[in-house]
Formats: sequence, structure tokens, C-alpha cells
Amino acid sequence: METRSSPRTCPDCGSHRQARIVYGLVETTADLRARLEAGSLVLGGCCITGNDPEWHCRDCGRKWGTSEQTRQMIEWADSRESKKPTPLWKRLLFWILAAPFFIPLVLFGFSLLVTAGIVRAKNHCERLVRGDLAVRRSRPGPPNHHTVSGPEHEGS
Ligand SMILES: [Zn+2]
Repeated sequence: METRSSPRTCPDCGSHRQARIVYGLVETTADLRARLEAGSLVLGGCCITGNDPEWHCRDCGRKWGTSEQTRQMIEWADSRESKKPTPLWKRLLFWILAAPFFIPLVLFGFSLLVTAGIVRAKNHCERLVRGDLAVRRSRPGPPNHHTVSGPEHEGS
């Protein structure tokens, strides 16, 4: 239990006579009873509230520090926190930051599609017009003497 052997001074009175506060259900061994009687340990109760001091001044009664149990609890809570899925605002921020890189790409792709569409439509129209003309030209009409069907060489 007494792993922290470094001398602790009370922030209030400067005393070095400190007791470590033990939380939780502790087994009342002879050693523990001896320590409690000697005043090096103080029972802090069975409930850990998250704001539990570790040290108790035996001169003025001031309590301070963070108990080992609370530190473990905070670490456990932090590790759980870090395993949570990415919060929505972080994902939104990512997309907002990524947008300047994605938008030109999307616009470029879109313009390529539009250009391809225009070229295809133009070719289609040209083919239609050409085909239409070809059909009109090859259409066998009734013989008409007014129709000029070829280069005429009159006179000369
Ligand atoms: Zn003190």
C-alpha cells in the first residue's frame, strides 16, 4: 500500500504527517488495522465519486490529491471515450476541409461529361442532317424537267 514513500507536505499547514485515504471495501487485516491505528491510513468510504482526495493531513485535517481509484476510473473513462465512434462534428469538419479538394475534381468530371454529351449530340445531329440530305438526294422523284440534276454544258 505504501508505495509512495516520498514525503508529502500539507498544502495548508506544511505538516509531513499524512495519511493515505483508502476507498472501497477493504479487508480488515491486522496490518490494515495497525496502519489505521497508527494513522497512516484513513478509510474514505466505499463510494468513489470521481472527486476523492488521496491524502489526509493528520494535523489540520485537510484532504487533497487524487486517489488511485479515481485515477484508474478516469483512465478507464478516457479509454472508453477514445473508443467511441468519431463524433458528427468531426466528420462534418473533415468533409468541410476535404471539400476544396473534392469540389474541383467533381466539377472537372462534370464538365467532361457535359463536353462529351455536347460532342455526341453534335455528331448525332450532323449524322441526322447528313442522313436526311442523303435520303432526300437519293429519293427517286418523278421526272421533272425543271429539276437540275447535274452540271449542264449548254452552248460551250
Ligand atoms: Zn495540514
